[in-house]
Amino acid sequence: MKEELREEIRRVIKIEGECRGVSIESPLNYVELNYEKDKLMAIETILKEFGIPGKDETKVLAKYPIGCMTATHLVIKDFLDWSDDDVEKMGYALPQISFIVRTLSRYFISVERTFQESSNYWKKHFTLGKLVPVEIDIDKKYLILRIEGYMTNPIDCKLFTGYFSRMISYTIKAKEVYGEEVECSHKGGDCHQFVVRWKD
Ligand SMILES: [Zn+2]
Repeated sequence: MKEELREEIRRVIKIEGECRGVSIESPLNYVELNYEKDKLMAIETILKEFGIPGKDETKVLAKYPIGCMTATHLVIKDFLDWSDDDVEKMGYALPQISFIVRTLSRYFISVERTFQESSNYWKKHFTLGKLVPVEIDIDKKYLILRIEGYMTNPIDCKLFTGYFSRMISYTIKAKEVYGEEVECSHKGGDCHQFVVRWKD
């Protein structure tokens, strides 16, 4: 691992704000499900150097510094030599393996309801930033979500792009759902803004 990445990990784990353990555990579950066992163990060894718990030590509902989640994404991407698209793909898979998502499935009865509840959903996961439902147009088949007051590392934006797309795909009978980040606080934007579109 390059020294710049180590420095970035040391920086993000000091960011104020918290996530639930599920946000650390789920990406590690994804690695376990999709790669050989030794990959997960190697990633956990690196995380432990930074004081970040492994999959089995993480308590899903306990609170951890939010940078532990970001650092987990960074270590996974670096160790498995992933592209940004691979991170987005993991984001798309995570709701499927998240304990919290399963317990909140009552929210996802319609795309409008999911859209309206998205702020509460964010609050259950994170104490940093807020998720704002901006606009929904069922006829034109798109919605816009915004994350305000959230600065970690751009890797999280990739992850959320996939994650939001999957959450929306649960609620609509569309063949294709695709999300895109159209504005980003890491690139001088006022917020992170995501457009999710779907096609029948
Ligand atoms: Zn962003």
